[in-house]
Amino acid sequence: MTDETEAELTGAAPRRRPKASVEKIGGRKLKPSTMMMGHGYDPVLSEGSLKPPIFLTSTFVFPSAAAGKRHFEGVTGKRPGGADGLVYSRFNGPNQEILEDRLGIWEGAEDALAFSSGMSAIATLFLSMVKPGDTIVHSGPLYAATETLIARILGRFGVHWLDFPAGATREEIDAVLSKAASGNVALIYLESPANPTNALVDVEAVAASRDAIFKGAKPPIAIDNTFLGPLWAQPLKQGADIVVYSLTKYAGGHSDLVAGGVLGNKEHINTIRLMRNTIGTICDPHTAWMLLRSLETLELRMSRAGENAVKVCEFLRTHPKVEHVGYLGFLEEGSRQADIYNRHCTGAGSTFSLYLKGGEKEAFAFLDSLKIAKLAVSLGGTETLASHPAGMTHLSVPEARKQALGITDNLVRISIGVEDADDLISDFEEALKAV
Ligand SMILES: *Cc1c(COP(=O)(O)O)cnc(C)c1O
Repeated sequence: MTDETEAELTGAAPRRRPKASVEKIGGRKLKPSTMMMGHGYDPVLSEGSLKPPIFLTSTFVFPSAAAGKRHFEGVTGKRPGGADGLVYSRFNGPNQEILEDRLGIWEGAEDALAFSSGMSAIATLFLSMVKPGDTIVHSGPLYAATETLIARILGRFGVHWLDFPAGATREEIDAVLSKAASGNVALIYLESPANPTNALVDVEAVAASRDAIFKGAKPPIAIDNTFLGPLWAQPLKQGADIVVYSLTKYAGGHSDLVAGGVLGNKEHINTIRLMRNTIGTICDPHTAWMLLRSLETLELRMSRAGENAVKVCEFLRTHPKVEHVGYLGFLEEGSRQADIYNRHCTGAGSTFSLYLKGGEKEAFAFLDSLKIAKLAVSLGGTETLASHPAGMTHLSVPEARKQALGITDNLVRISIGVEDADDLISDFEEALKAV
C-alpha cells in the first residue's frame, strides 16, 4: 500500500516529506557524502528554502482527529515505528527526523535516533533494555560517565555488570560471557578503541562468542563508535546490533554543540524510541540543524584530520623527548591488535596518546607552550586539542587503576584537527623545546 492510499483509508496525513530522496543515479548507489546535501528534505515543502528552516514549535497541528489518533498509536508503541506524522516536540520534529535519516546512511543502518548528548543516548539505551536483576557485560575501560552510569547508577536499581578488557581474546570473552550467562544478560556493551589505552575490541569475536554461548534469546551487542565512526569504523558490519555516538565529537566536528545518536535495526530502535518519547532525551531543533550542517563536511573533515594525524605522529614518534606514541596507525604488524585493526578499521583516526620522557612537569611544560593546539578536553573538532588525562579527565580514578590503564603523569591526549599539518608540526616541535 502506498503512503497515499493508506492515508486515505485511515484519514492520516500523507508523509509531509519524502522518506528518501535520490539514492541512485543510473544504477549507481550514491555515497553518504553526496546524500548529506539533500536526503530526507524537500525544499518545496518549505517555500523553496535550500536549507531546512529550524522548526521552533512545541507541538504540531493534526489534519483531522483520526490522524491525531493514528499518530498517537505510533508514539505509544501500539503500532511500531513511531508516529506517521509529527505530534509533539518531545517525540520528534522535522529537523531531528532529517538528521536521523542522514545519520543512518553512514553505516547502512535501518533507522537512527538523535539525542541531547552522547550520555543521554547511552542512558536511554540502557533504560530501554535493562531491568532489576539483569547483567550488562561490557568491555573496559569505558568512557568514565558510562562506567558511572552502569556501576553506580544502574547498580542502585539492582542491575549487575561484568567486564572484560577491551583487547580480550575470544577465549577471554567466552569465559566472561559463560559466567554471565547463568544470569539474565540484557546487553553486551562495547567501546572501541578504549580511552586512553587505544585498545581495540574484537567485535567479530564478541558476536561469535555471544552466538555460541546464548542458544535462545541473544542479548544485543551495542558499541560506542565515537572515536572512529562513521568514517574509519562501521561495527554493524562486524556483527554489532546497535551503534552509539557522542555526536559532540567528530560528527558535530566544530566544538560548538553537544548531542548523541543511536543507530540500528528498526526493532531495537523502536524499543529505544519508546523510552526517548517517555523521558524526552531528544536533541533540540537548533542542534539538529547544526548537525545537518556538520554532516555535509564530515568526510572532508575526518579525512583531513586523519591525514594530519599520520604526519604529526610520524614526526612525534622519532623525537628524542618522546617516549612513545599510542596511535592506531603504529600497531605492530602481526600483533593481535593489528589483526583486529585490519579486520575492523579503515583508518587510524586523529586522536592518540603521546607519552613524553619525564612526568607531570614535562607534560605541563609541553601543554603550556602549545600555541595552535588548545588546552581542552573533548576531541574530533576542526581545531587541535591537547589535555592531561591523569590531571584532568581521570583525576578521580584510583592510582592502581590509573597505572593499569596506562594513565601516567607523562601522558598527553591529543586530538588533531584540520589545520595545516606542517603548522601543527611546528607547534609541537617548538613546545617540545620547552620540555
Ligand atoms: C564524549 C564521549 C561520550 C559522551 O558524550 P557527550 O556528548 O559528552 O554526552 C561518550 N563516549 C565517548 C567515547 C565519548 O568520547
